[in-house]
Amino acid sequence: MISIAIDGPAGAGKSTVARAAAQQLGYIYVDTGALYRSIGLYATAHEVPADSEERVSALLPDIKLELGYQNGEQRVFLNGYDVSEQIRTPEMSMAASKVSAIPEVRQFLFALQKNMAKEHNVVMDGRDIGTVVLPEAQVKIFLTATPEERAKRRHRELVEKGMEVSYESLLEEVKQRDYNDSHRAIAPLKQAEDAILLDTTHLTLEQSIEALLKIVKEKLKDVL
Ligand code: C5P
Repeated sequence: MISIAIDGPAGAGKSTVARAAAQQLGYIYVDTGALYRSIGLYATAHEVPADSEERVSALLPDIKLELGYQNGEQRVFLNGYDVSEQIRTPEMSMAASKVSAIPEVRQFLFALQKNMAKEHNVVMDGRDIGTVVLPEAQVKIFLTATPEERAKRRHRELVEKGMEVSYESLLEEVKQRDYNDSHRAIAPLKQAEDAILLDTTHLTLEQSIEALLKIVKEKLKDVL
């Protein structure tokens, strides 16, 4: 099986680029952030603070997460319910960032992610895919862009969905999540030594996809 690991900070365009690349390659796209978001959602729904290690860990045995695919789109099912839309709010971004610092949560999701890569050719995006989840991935890419550019993109995306949020609050959120993700004790966001850096600050979406595919094709030229 072939695994392509795409890591990087929030809002670098990972999911859009990874999804498009997976489609072109005929691989399955795995958005691992959706898993952390789902746990954040479950904790919030049960009025458990997302940063309470003890209380969030106690919820894990009651959580069943499954990934499904509809027209090539990943759907995430939390105890049988499709929560794919509900997990996309800024509130859930922050809850995900908090639960993701809990070692028991990371361990809980590790097997699920590993199994996806065992059974399918995958393009998997997250924060620790190249470093922790799939260190054996044949291709590793660290996708990034400046915080300002990432906040601008998030803002556009949410406005298009009809949500009312200010650019300033999103920039603050992006910076806060960057800090949380790269300073946590367990599996912090960092570029794997053998990952290729792709900075998309000055690239359009199409150019980013093209650049990523070029890296993949070069790396996999003996396999594809
Ligand atoms: O990628 P997305 O923004 O949906 O991820 C939400 C949060 O989940 C991130 O801010 C990060 O804290 C966490 N996450 C993680 N490891 C991953 C994917 C996401 O810690 N592999």
